Amino acid sequence: MGKNAIVTGGTRGIGRAISLALKNNGCNVAATYAGNDEAAAQFKSETDINVYKWDVGDYDACQGGVAEIEGAQGPTDILVNNAGITRDGFFHKMTPAQWSEVIRADLDSVFNMSRQIFPGMRERGYGRIVNITSINGQKGQMGQVNYSAAKAGMIGFTRALAQEGARKGVTVNAVAPGYIATDMVAALDEKVLQGIVAQVPVGRLGAPEEIGDCVAFLAGEGAGFITGAVLSANGGQYIAA
Ligand code: NDP
Repeated sequence: MGKNAIVTGGTRGIGRAISLALKNNGCNVAATYAGNDEAAAQFKSETDINVYKWDVGDYDACQGGVAEIEGAQGPTDILVNNAGITRDGFFHKMTPAQWSEVIRADLDSVFNMSRQIFPGMRERGYGRIVNITSINGQKGQMGQVNYSAAKAGMIGFTRALAQEGARKGVTVNAVAPGYIATDMVAALDEKVLQGIVAQVPVGRLGAPEEIGDCVAFLAGEGAGFITGAVLSANGGQYIAA
């Protein structure tokens, strides 16, 4: 029997690649999304992976959504907290809405989802939680005070929950991608993008599949001795200690 996995924001971009990598490893995967029904329907028809729509920033919606998924595929062995948004702008102009939308979707969501699933993992003595943070949570990024704060928050969350889960067979790790070719990055101005690529020693954007492979590794049974880690996948753009 394959492990049961939930990937938030699993229908597009990096999440899509994570869903597929886990499926290719024999997992039963449920992919969640927020509102892009068209992309989700296309993803479902191309991959045969079930999709579920709710806002991961809403605690009660997470409770209901997880219950529905677990009713269909059983208790969750692997949770990937991947869903995220950006609302960029310089801090001196940042609105409270730009701040709180990002904190809610990118950081509250990690609590909202993990809180539903971690207790069962603990009781069953097995679990894998993988959080998708960002290079910009590691180094900070101008124009992204909100996003950098949320993504750095995910790293603290990962390190603390890893300590709580360790004796119960639950590992908690993070993957910190650099710039990856997805819709989120396509939204950037062409000049900004060229400037970013110029700073990447590998000389290109990353592919979503390269992050999918990192997650599949950390979510595998063989990674049981790795917990509280942050795996950087950024083409050498930022080499963290
Ligand atoms: P995309 O914008 O391509 O996809 C985001 C996915 O998350 C979509 O499936 C979207 O659903 C879902 N989502 C967004 N907000 C919510 C919400 N409130 N509730 C439920 N689902 C939600 O993003 P990427 O693939 O580029 O990014 C994925 C993750 O990787 C994010 O956490 C991002 O911060 C991180 N990251 C990305 C990098 C990059 O270069 N792309 C670099 C470093 C980190 P819907 O389709 O309905 O909109």
